[in-house]
Amino acid sequence: MPSYIIRLLSLSPRREKPMSDALPKALGKSEGVLTQAALVNSEKVTGIPAASPGPSMPAPEPEKKVLKLKEKVPNESEKDVVGAITAKIVRGTPEFDTLVENTNEDIVFKDEEGTGADKMMSKRMDEKMNELAKLVKDEWPGKKLRVTECWDENGEHNDYSTHYEGRGADLTVSDKDGKKLGRLGQLAVDAGFDWVFYEDNVHIHVAVKRDEDE
Ligand SMILES: [Zn+2]
Repeated sequence: MPSYIIRLLSLSPRREKPMSDALPKALGKSEGVLTQAALVNSEKVTGIPAASPGPSMPAPEPEKKVLKLKEKVPNESEKDVVGAITAKIVRGTPEFDTLVENTNEDIVFKDEEGTGADKMMSKRMDEKMNELAKLVKDEWPGKKLRVTECWDENGEHNDYSTHYEGRGADLTVSDKDGKKLGRLGQLAVDAGFDWVFYEDNVHIHVAVKRDEDE
């Protein structure tokens, strides 16, 4: 036999006898003994076989998905996902005419400016907003989606904000309950917003790509 084969043979791992043969038998035996003893004991005390099933418990509902504070979906910069703004849209320009007014009765608009600006948004934003309004109604019957800011014509955001193109919006539930924001963020993801950011304790920020980039 060539020497390299001998070397190979001597290197091959030795087979160990698996433990799996002996162990379960030992365990099974002692478990069986324990169970029987417990059964006998319990029957003596109560007169009811210990193996009788208790009242059936309903299976716990699976936990609902929520976003964590400061979480972004997807976890990239807003600009990388939805594109930087070209310019601030100004009322009375052709760009303003591309915005649509959201008239969904299932959405509450804060409209703190009193100008209806928060109802103005890009077409894609309008679509996703209406979708989310449905999800919110199903999730919390009697509550509505609330928009605290959408299109901004007053320069209240940073210079590059998607709010200026009606492609960014700030959202809560109509009861303004901060504890619902994590779930609202996930519903916004489910509704199809391109970028969702659990920005702070008082709102979720969402953004969409420009209509021509969809
Ligand atoms: Zn915002």
